[in-house]
Amino acid sequence: MAKAPAFDPADPLGIDDLLDPEDKAIRDTVRRYCADHLTPHVAQWFERGELPVREVARGLGGIGVLGMHLEGYGCAGTSAVQYGLACLEVEACDSGLRSLVSVQGSLAMFAIHRFGSEEHRRTWLPRMAAGDAIGCYGLTEPDHGSDPASMRTHAERDGDDWLLNGRKMWITNGSVADVAVIWAQAEEGIRGFVVPTDTAGFSAVDIKHKMSLRASVTSELTFDDVRLPADAVLPDVVGMRGPLTCLGEARYGIVWGSVGAARACFEAALDYAGSREQFGRPIAGFQLEYPVIRHMNNLESVLTYEGTSEMHTLVIGKALTGLDAFR
Ligand SMILES: Cc1cc2nc3c(=O)[nH]c(=O)nc-3n(C[C@H](O)[C@H](O)[C@H](O)COP(=O)(O)OP(=O)(O)OC[C@H]3O[C@@H](n4cnc5c(N)ncnc54)[C@H](O)[C@@H]3O)c2cc1C
Repeated sequence: MAKAPAFDPADPLGIDDLLDPEDKAIRDTVRRYCADHLTPHVAQWFERGELPVREVARGLGGIGVLGMHLEGYGCAGTSAVQYGLACLEVEACDSGLRSLVSVQGSLAMFAIHRFGSEEHRRTWLPRMAAGDAIGCYGLTEPDHGSDPASMRTHAERDGDDWLLNGRKMWITNGSVADVAVIWAQAEEGIRGFVVPTDTAGFSAVDIKHKMSLRASVTSELTFDDVRLPADAVLPDVVGMRGPLTCLGEARYGIVWGSVGAARACFEAALDYAGSREQFGRPIAGFQLEYPVIRHMNNLESVLTYEGTSEMHTLVIGKALTGLDAFR
């Protein structure tokens, strides 16, 4: 009988055995980068409710994490598992940092890669992959979150141009972005627009006092007669299929990421249980030295964004029963 592998408390299910050497090399690179450059600072960023987005993006771009699962245009073209492992490692550090990776790579870059013109791809993707340009993704509005199809932001033709008007809410990296992928109602249906954020009429204000995802920039965007050239529109999609395809892409990384947050909590608890002293010093005094509460607060957002867990339950219910219970 084959000898059972030694039990590893850090990998109780033996997942490592399912990975090939390249998967492990990528996983280890991201893990090491996070341990050296991000984890030492993240509790402070969370505490202060701020994130040096450009610095972090350049670092993650430097190790090839941003848009890593996309092909060409400076992107690494890795497998889905490798992308998932990277998300896991980044979220083991903090969900806010993983949300930067998801919004950049799976929402903004993916939208441009899948639905954009060749010009959009060449202009934005190489700089975004390197972390030199930051992207954001505007779907949610103040009055339309779970029901984005009812969005009010609209784009109208004005000669050859488009005029964009409206608001978006809860937009990750909105105030620091160089480019925004914005979904808006047009005559023919919902369209996506590639909007350089220095265009006149575009403004962004940060949302402060979050209790969750504090190491992440979240903003409200306003478009006041933002004039865009005809070719600002994503040419290859009309309707909700566009934004929903991008959300599906991002959720894949989020699933892996939440396992990373769970692993970080588990490792902290394991370490704590092995090292605590009951009598020499009161353990209550050390509670906030540990990342578990930070991860717990962050995971509330993970249950909310890209469609709340309730909406996903209803979507699965519709698939099972054929009955639409959310309208
Ligand atoms: C930190 C953070 C970052 C985000 N980043 C982005 C981003 O970068 N880009 C972007 O576009 N959006 C972003 N979002 C927005 C996010 O996708 C929305 O918050 C989410 O879709 C929920 O919308 P809402 O907040 O308007 O809640 P609502 O839609 O008002 O829902 C409130 C509650 O009612 C429940 N509910 C709603 N409708 C039904 C129904 N029919 N049946 C049963 N229950 C229902 C919901 O499940 C929820 O519990 C972000 C959100 C957060 C918190």
